[in-house]
Amino acid sequence: VNLYVHVPFCARRCSYCDFAIAVRRAVPAAAFVRSVLQEWGWARQDAPWSEARSLRTLYLGGGTPSLLGGVALRELVVGLAREKPLAHDAEVTIEANPEDVTLDAALAWRDLGVTRVSLGVQSFDDRVLAWMHRIHSAAQVPNAVRHLRHAGITNLSLDLIFAVPRDLARDWPQDLARALDLGPEHISLYGLTVEPHTPLGRWTTSGTAIPAPEDQYAEEYLAAHATLHAAGFAFYEVSNASRPGFEAVHNGGYWRRAAFLGLGPSAHSGAGNRRWWNVRHWSAYQPRVSAGLSPIDREEVLSREAEGLERLYLGLRTSTGVEPRLLGGLADAWVRAGWAEAAGHNVRLTPEGWLRLDALAASVPA
Ligand code: SF4
Repeated sequence: VNLYVHVPFCARRCSYCDFAIAVRRAVPAAAFVRSVLQEWGWARQDAPWSEARSLRTLYLGGGTPSLLGGVALRELVVGLAREKPLAHDAEVTIEANPEDVTLDAALAWRDLGVTRVSLGVQSFDDRVLAWMHRIHSAAQVPNAVRHLRHAGITNLSLDLIFAVPRDLARDWPQDLARALDLGPEHISLYGLTVEPHTPLGRWTTSGTAIPAPEDQYAEEYLAAHATLHAAGFAFYEVSNASRPGFEAVHNGGYWRRAAFLGLGPSAHSGAGNRRWWNVRHWSAYQPRVSAGLSPIDREEVLSREAEGLERLYLGLRTSTGVEPRLLGGLADAWVRAGWAEAAGHNVRLTPEGWLRLDALAASVPA
């Protein structure tokens, strides 16, 4: 089973974030673990999970899973692995914010079988971090990394956000250099997008924040490609780069259209051409599960056409690319424009192509 657990709590909402989270100082960890284990108890009896013997990947995402605390986290992981143990080579990822990474926490995660930590760094500029409403300071990041390494975490991913408003005068090359100085195995990059129901959305409407123009977005994205490539990283997906052998296994499953099960509020699941997802908010999820009701909100079956589009879009996101015949005769034009290149029998997007991913995918005739 490729298992995702959405931990929906954060200590504070970041200014750009519209995820399904509940802001809590004190996290209702015991109730959360009880609900998720109950949902798991139901889901694992259904196909295709009922046939699986073990957990191939486990991804604790959010929200802020590192807020759960050692006791709850142990109960959660032990409970999930009771019927279907972690495979001997399972990838077990936890997303963590730097302020939560103490040496004790890191040792406890390692002890539980965590093999990979994805650290929400975003920037090394304290002014930018404050603007983002992040809780940590830049100085906390190297400490967090030291604790994780000391605890034996050998697969470390750092998240960085680019294309922040120009008037913040953020030094992107310096942030990239500081991230590389910490010696991560993996880096995820997110271009800042303005979502309407967020503080950033309101600042943009009122003119207090001016979003980065397209040329800055492109410049920073391409600069990241050049810098990370020179440091021995390869982009294996539009937003993800790693050292060889450190590509994310769990997320790779999504892009290959492997079956995945999501537990917790707003979690999505998919198997074959079926997709389903849970109610979005903790305040709706928890009462349903504790009343013995399924938290699934909706379910859909992809048409052949929708499945084809999904296959095309996911393929174009990755460095594996897609078979040229799926591009409806556009492959040569894309290659001539510098947006695509041959990759064995496939065609894959170049960094310039990934900048235009949505538009290119949408332009392919059905
Ligand atoms: S920590 Fe992550 S999930 Fe939580 S508010 Fe910030 S961006 Fe959103």
